[in-house]
Amino acid sequence: MGKVWFVGAGPGAPDLITVRATRLLAEAGAILYTGSLVAETVLEWASPECDIADSKSMDLDAVRTWLLDRAARHATVVRLQTGDPSLYGVVAELARPLDAAGIEVGMVPGVSSAMAAAAAAGESLTLPELTQTVIFTRLAERTSMPERESLAALAAHGCTLCLFLSIERIERVCEILQQAGWSREAPMVVVHKASWPGEERVLRGTLADMPERCREQGIERQAMILVSPTLGARARPEQSTSKLYDAAFPRRFRPASDA
Ligand code: SAH
Repeated sequence: MGKVWFVGAGPGAPDLITVRATRLLAEAGAILYTGSLVAETVLEWASPECDIADSKSMDLDAVRTWLLDRAARHATVVRLQTGDPSLYGVVAELARPLDAAGIEVGMVPGVSSAMAAAAAAGESLTLPELTQTVIFTRLAERTSMPERESLAALAAHGCTLCLFLSIERIERVCEILQQAGWSREAPMVVVHKASWPGEERVLRGTLADMPERCREQGIERQAMILVSPTLGARARPEQSTSKLYDAAFPRRFRPASDA
């Protein structure tokens, strides 16, 4: 019986996969990837005789069966997921039958598209005094969500929001944020295909104009929405300097200057 690994492929750029992930891809006897988002270039790490399949047209049962079957034949089986496997993947659903069959399961983290989007835009998601909290969420749609996690309830905190799986309904997102107290002029960043070589696009706007911009640019899928009081802070030097670099703030290896 082999071991099945849920591996983060990163956000798309072939060099944003972890070293650990590339080692597992190279030693894997079988790899199941999600063709829609994972860059095929990442599969170049696989050995020539590796059994590689795309799960795009498989349902959950077919994926489960595939993993169980390959685990019976190979020492290392990889289920490759975009970004980080713990976010909006289906690890629990896929691991359950493996657990039940006594097959060992492992996980390798990946660079999430939320992080890749912040990097593409050159933005900090936390800044002293502005916000120290980041929420990863999505607009509820067919997937049901606990009521206390409605976008309106979360947005009311005024902290940073990274919105996955929501670009198709960006108009609705902007409406809800305004109802939750955000200004029409609040900054918003949309990153399409963050980190994908030659395909990444960063759109900067406000809650008022972002839906229109996305329409103009034809951005309807594979995009991360960032909303935060920190956006654009690089152009506002008067705003919050981190205490970490404040001369009066004692740190472990550096006494405060007045000490
Ligand atoms: N586990 C993944 C998220 C999967 S859900 C992660 O950690 O990134 C799929 C959603 O992720 C998409 O709807 C989109 O909102 C976002 N996404 C994935 N890859 C992206 C990329 N390269 N750029 C921007 N958004 C991306």
